[in-house]
Amino acid sequence: MRTAIVVDTRYQEHDTGAGHPERPERLLSVDRALHEWRGSPLERISARLAEEDEIRLAHTDDLYERISRTQHMTHARIDADTTTCDRSFEIALLAAGGVLELSDAVATGSCRNGFAFVRPPGHHATSGQAMGFCLFNNVAIAARHLQRRHGYERIAIIDWDLHHGNGTEAIFYDDPSVLYVSLHQYPFYPGTGAVTDTGRGSGLGFNVNVPFGAGVGDEGYVLALEEVVAPVLRQFAPQFLLVSAGFDCHWRDPLGGMQVTEQGFVGMSRVLLQVADDVADGRLVAVLEGGYDLDAMRGGTEAVLDELTHGARVHAPGTHRTHAFDRLRQVLAPHWRL
Ligand SMILES: [Zn+2]
Repeated sequence: MRTAIVVDTRYQEHDTGAGHPERPERLLSVDRALHEWRGSPLERISARLAEEDEIRLAHTDDLYERISRTQHMTHARIDADTTTCDRSFEIALLAAGGVLELSDAVATGSCRNGFAFVRPPGHHATSGQAMGFCLFNNVAIAARHLQRRHGYERIAIIDWDLHHGNGTEAIFYDDPSVLYVSLHQYPFYPGTGAVTDTGRGSGLGFNVNVPFGAGVGDEGYVLALEEVVAPVLRQFAPQFLLVSAGFDCHWRDPLGGMQVTEQGFVGMSRVLLQVADDVADGRLVAVLEGGYDLDAMRGGTEAVLDELTHGARVHAPGTHRTHAFDRLRQVLAPHWRL
């Protein structure tokens, strides 16, 4: 079974205005990586527009209406850094729909795993608020869709974008059926993502924040996944893994302060693919979030695709436990064996 991708030139039609970091050229970096791709053949899945009721799986009627009204405006400002053009509403539907099509393809077993290279990104969008370059929360919609369409009881969303995915966290904060895990620079935009925010009500314990100070690189990210995130995921045993894959934690990124290299994306992908293989028959879909340096975008794309096409390989984590992540372990101790 092959690895599938979603790419579509229409994703470049979402025009954020001159000088905006979340710009169409980001996807040209993905195209370049695909043009130079010499690995196993990739299956291309066609995107489609998400239906209104699909968007409403994760969003309020009010947000849907507000974003739909922007199609009559050449330029609209949603918040200080989120702008739209008259095509943005439709392209946002296409972003969500592209992730849904890929998720369906993986769920039905027509392909092994995949990566949806969509824009606008989604993880900052809450149920009622578009923000932080995001209009609709693509992964959140996909998680709800996978539950509704395919009957999955447990979905995991792992978010390695530089920023905390406040939108995804908020949407599933009291929901024990969707485990949200975020690794992010902290304190940083959007201000959320404290280690002590572990969920609410029946969702308590099903929200895992791994806040990092600036300067963390490959080792820190991979270690956090190996030592804390993977054990939690294995206990949760998700039937499907969604990855909010942002490339803005790369050292070249102009917005971030992290030191991740292509090798870090390889390592993180490898840990998650191993978990997916062990508990979810390998079902994993990566979805593009941020990433604002064009070379980092290209290198990251290639690194993750290389791992996806190889599938899980034998992976040897460190044999002795380190004393890292003490605070995180303490916070999670009531909920998970670590
Ligand atoms: Zn980001």
